[in-house]
Amino acid sequence: MSVKAVLRFVNYKITRDPDGEKTWRARCVSGDEEECGAESMVFGSDDPPADWMAEHTATTGHQRFQRIYEDYALVEKAE
Ligand SMILES: [Zn+2]
Repeated sequence: MSVKAVLRFVNYKITRDPDGEKTWRARCVSGDEEECGAESMVFGSDDPPADWMAEHTATTGHQRFQRIYEDYALVEKAE
């Protein structure tokens, strides 16, 4: 059995796209049978939407959230 595939090791550099917006949103996943499912709006920010979560906990008693972070990446071939 011969292996014909030639493995080429090319390095790629992945960086955050400074032109892309960083966004956070939070989703309430509290509840045993069914998740609450309440979602915050999307916040363009470096930090998770702590105020929204605190307010939701204060009004509902729910204490478990999924924090969803999105940003953009650039992939470049390293020289
Ligand atoms: Zn909730």
